[in-house]
Amino acid sequence: MSKNTNEKHFESTLFGHPIGLYILFFTEMWERFSYYGMRALLVLYMTTETIGDARGPGLGWTSQEALALYGWYTMLVYVMSIPGGMIADKLLGQKKTVLFGAVILCIGHGVLVLTDTWAFYTGLGLVILGVGLLKPNISTMVGGLYPQGDIRRDKGFSIFYIGINTGSLLATMVIGFVVAQWGWHAGFGLAGIAMVLGLIVYVWGQKYLTHVGNLEIHKSNTVDQSSYGLLFKNLLKSKNQMFITVILSVVSAFGWYSLGWGFGLLFFFLTIIAALMMMIYKELNSQLDKDRFLVLLLSFIMVIIFWGAYEQAGGLMNLYADTKTDRMLLGMQIPTVMFQSLNAGFIILFAAAVASYWAKRKLKGGEASSIFKMAVGIVIMGFGFLFMVFAAMQFEKSGSSSMLWLVMAYLFHTIGELCISPVALSFITKLSPVKYASLMMGVYFAATGLGNKVAGIIGESASSLGEFSVFLGIFLFTIVIGVLFVLILKPLKRLTHGAEDNEK
Ligand code: GLN
Repeated sequence: MSKNTNEKHFESTLFGHPIGLYILFFTEMWERFSYYGMRALLVLYMTTETIGDARGPGLGWTSQEALALYGWYTMLVYVMSIPGGMIADKLLGQKKTVLFGAVILCIGHGVLVLTDTWAFYTGLGLVILGVGLLKPNISTMVGGLYPQGDIRRDKGFSIFYIGINTGSLLATMVIGFVVAQWGWHAGFGLAGIAMVLGLIVYVWGQKYLTHVGNLEIHKSNTVDQSSYGLLFKNLLKSKNQMFITVILSVVSAFGWYSLGWGFGLLFFFLTIIAALMMMIYKELNSQLDKDRFLVLLLSFIMVIIFWGAYEQAGGLMNLYADTKTDRMLLGMQIPTVMFQSLNAGFIILFAAAVASYWAKRKLKGGEASSIFKMAVGIVIMGFGFLFMVFAAMQFEKSGSSSMLWLVMAYLFHTIGELCISPVALSFITKLSPVKYASLMMGVYFAATGLGNKVAGIIGESASSLGEFSVFLGIFLFTIVIGVLFVLILKPLKRLTHGAEDNEK
């Protein structure tokens, strides 16, 4: 294809956004279909008896075993985004890494169609690897479609986010039906077919993505490919950083000893990432880059807290809907799983409105920095838990609680999510040092993965503390954190050095 045609494809727009955005939208939509579809089956498949029911035999695990594996799995898919980002930054560029990720995902879901135990573990392993390669890098590519200072970027991410949730909504609506009709492995197969569709869209749409996600783009200021090794070599010579790393390693060893090898390995991995972050900070040569890097890391604290609270959705709130909520409506009982679709549905309904609200506010000169939006997002999500506090109070009084509380909670959670999640993706692409853009996106997703794990730990504590205390605790804690970030907004914004000041 001639250079001019390439240019034309890349610059062509639809509804005011580059066509490349829609290619990434549909690729990610199908990828999320496969991810959430498979995820919806996982625990149920693991806990179904080996003699099986109409859906075929399961693995016959206890629910504790199944939930433990589920917790690790949902964390690992996101933690794997760190190596996924590194591979993109240093070896392949984001575009090729996404392609490899998509192919591995097709194979992984394909393997899960087989009924053997080895196939189950191999399939999960491949899905973890595939998501790690695809998810952070496709998100960074969305940012690459927009020049710096383009006000459409935040909106672009909101559109992309609608794609994510359309995939999730479709999957959770369809896959249960397929499994009921044709069994577990047909469900896994459907996830595989969805991923093949994603791969087809991505390959077909390459002509709209010619200028984004290439390694060459940042080759000029990229350090040599062994730079991570170099950073660790420098660590040995840096006293303060080495000291912190040793302390963290001791903590990890203690974690290994007292909590088992799973947590131990996780802590050691986090120690390595912390060392890497410190050394990248040290290596950055301008104060502007250093400050922006720092503010990005600080914003990740909000990310972990947000997801740690929010992800009660699949666990504690799900159980609450199942056992303590009156789900009768017009003489029919609403299935518990339906409540899981509320979030994706609300996102599709409100994503554009929330993004437009912030864009208008910004154009009018109001406060609409990403940090502010993220802090507000935490507060709004936190208020969702107030409804759960009311639900718990009603249950304690009358033995059941109205489902309206849950609907309101999910509504607030979703509006909060829309203020933080797509905004954070966009923010990372604005603030990351170019040569570490994919890695930082990977670290962001790993932070969300940790949030998931935190959510599981908090959720478990409800059995001893009771739901009322847990919901109230989350409500108070998230409000305090959100307000705290609003209070330190000014110095934090100063650290961004006007990265968002002149967006037009
Ligand atoms: N639900 C969103 C997605 O699947 C966000 C998940 C996350 O950031 N951990 O992309």
